[in-house]
Amino acid sequence: MTDMFTVAQPSVEIAGSDHRFPVRRIFCVGKNYADHAREMGGDPEREPPFFFSKPADAVVVGTADIAMPSRTANLHHEIELVVAIGKGGANIALDDAAASVFGYAVGNDLTRRDLQADAKAGGRPWDMAKGFDRSAVLSAIRPAADIGHPSAARIWLSVNGETRQDGDIADMIWPVADIIAELSTYVELRPGDLIYTGTPAGVGRIAPGDLVEGGIDGIGTIANHFV
Ligand code: MN
Repeated sequence: MTDMFTVAQPSVEIAGSDHRFPVRRIFCVGKNYADHAREMGGDPEREPPFFFSKPADAVVVGTADIAMPSRTANLHHEIELVVAIGKGGANIALDDAAASVFGYAVGNDLTRRDLQADAKAGGRPWDMAKGFDRSAVLSAIRPAADIGHPSAARIWLSVNGETRQDGDIADMIWPVADIIAELSTYVELRPGDLIYTGTPAGVGRIAPGDLVEGGIDGIGTIANHFV
């Protein structure tokens, strides 16, 4: 009765290591930059950021060719700082949040914007707009032991060499420690959890054939062809 199924543990590269980071869960923060909240029609003064999630096996490496996903005519890019949790807990205090971080990476929170708009209009869940296959692009993880805990750095994304998003992680409404403290009041964080921390303004459409590049200074880069 063995070998009936083979289920792979999703994992991602750790920069400078032969070990890989096993992905347990993927959480995402919505509307964590004021300029992006406004471009989506929101009011960052009145609506705090919030959480949603993707399945662990949505993760796809930041150098892969990515097939255009099904059921959308408006695939969007969202460049984001990603936090990799190395030490979990519930109700993590702000002062203890940094110690729960294993490392940092660059991610692209791919979004079926048309399905998301339909879901918002209908008061329905975002799962099929956000949690589809290969929707969580991720660079190698840089251990905090090597790079510390960056609180300010340029974050950018280009499509075919043209800059679309250009911000700074210092402009997050909830900085990383606040995200960890807040999220850990909803769920007990565990090693292997990833948190996509939100995107600055400039989100837009990806077309077949596009080269989408992005990065965060001091953390890493991604470059994916969409085919
Ligand atoms: Mn996002």
